[in-house]
Amino acid sequence: MIELVSAERCIGCNICVKVCPTNVFDKTDHAPVIKRQEDCQTCFICEAYCPVDALYVSPYADEAVPVDEEGLAADGILGSWRATIGWGPGRTKLAAVDKTPFINRILPARPIRAAGISDVGSPTTG
Ligand code: SF4
Ligand code: SF4
Repeated sequence: MIELVSAERCIGCNICVKVCPTNVFDKTDHAPVIKRQEDCQTCFICEAYCPVDALYVSPYADEAVPVDEEGLAADGILGSWRATIGWGPGRTKLAAVDKTPFINRILPARPIRAAGISDVGSPTTG
């Protein structure tokens, strides 16, 4: 559940406001405020998008927990999710190195074709 918007780090870009699928934040003149915390889906999208590591989403999806910004920063937690998935300048995106063959699990098996029979309308049949 979203727990923190660091007013000190925030640059007021409002990306988190735009990407949140459940409209948890409200805009202000500077840092957005967490207005509907109970609607948070703990999807981490806002944290992943924040360009200055100003957000903290707790992994506890069903309850709000008290957090301490200084402690989170000191422990390297702020921005750690964004770094883990490789978002941000100079990082390798996790998706680029993930070898998990998920796609093979959801695609239907390839049809077995008889030798010498080509597909009608395929680029090779002219
Ligand atoms: S994405 Fe980050 S920097 Fe931008 S408004 Fe939200 S908290 Fe502030
Ligand atoms: S974790 Fe997801 S649902 Fe929760 S505030 Fe961030 S973007 Fe919105």
